[in-house]
Amino acid sequence: MKLSLVVPCFNEARAIPLFREAVRALELPYDLEFIFVNDGSTDESLMVLRQLAEADPAVHYLSFSRNFGKEAALLAGLRRASGEWIVTLDVDLQHPVKLLPEMTAILARGEADCVAARRTTRAGEPPIRSAFARMFYVLLNRLSEVRMRGGETDYRMMTCQVRDAVLALPEVNRFTKGIYAWVGFRTRWLEFENVDRAVGESKWSFWGLVRYSIQGLSAFSAAPLQLASVLGLVCCLAALVYLLYILGKTLLVGEAVGGWPTLACLILFLGGLQLFVIGILGTYLAKVYIETKHRPVYLIQEER
Ligand code: UDP
Ligand code: MG
Repeated sequence: MKLSLVVPCFNEARAIPLFREAVRALELPYDLEFIFVNDGSTDESLMVLRQLAEADPAVHYLSFSRNFGKEAALLAGLRRASGEWIVTLDVDLQHPVKLLPEMTAILARGEADCVAARRTTRAGEPPIRSAFARMFYVLLNRLSEVRMRGGETDYRMMTCQVRDAVLALPEVNRFTKGIYAWVGFRTRWLEFENVDRAVGESKWSFWGLVRYSIQGLSAFSAAPLQLASVLGLVCCLAALVYLLYILGKTLLVGEAVGGWPTLACLILFLGGLQLFVIGILGTYLAKVYIETKHRPVYLIQEER
């Protein structure tokens, strides 16, 4: 049996050797294949990878022409992996490698096709970030057909059958966590506690995460597109009620012409609502536009 480790790296020169040591120290009874994907690092990551590949025939790397993002790196690694089992994990040791023996054992016993790890704690993360993350999962589960539990990570080991299923989805806008939920298969969940990075710092900014969640939502749910219909209906009903009220009031009491503040509020409110909904339409249109270009998700400059 061969186990392929797909590891995206972006400016991780110091973490890469530590990661390889940590995995080697486990002495797993399988053939190992390291596939590091250098996602356009600007530090010495590529040099480190070249040296490692030189010294160890089990180490392979793909190097992108620029930073294409972690999703692209995962895709490239999955395509390249040749093992019967494939695991994707972060190089910063935040995905504890000590889970690997248990994961392989589960696959070896044929109890599942996919073993996924989820974080039980979000310790060490800014509270506002955790709150938004929780909100995102609630929203996604409400609005889309995929079911996600929250705390999900990209730390997964799968059989090559699952890998092929994941690769069969041709979209450019890839939200891998949603893709795994979408393809199905028997998935077993392992839990681990959040650990701090071994070295370096997180590449995610708050706005990066906001963009990531919008991408995830729009990739797996068309529900926001129906928002216009719902809002339109609600506004119509409200207008009808208000119309009846004014009619009644004018007929019974009689009224001088007035209502300027009401008009101003209504115009602003409806104008805002329309722009908001057009914005949502625009988000989806932009996705369609990008998808129809059929651009490659990444470009490989160097590999070994
Ligand atoms: N990463 C990547 N491309 C990017 C950003 C990150 O390949 O544009 C890699 C990074 O090297 C690491 C993993 O994705 O192996 C997770 O990144 P990070 O630790 O910054 O994210 P966090 O753990 O804070 O969610
Ligand atoms: Mg990390």
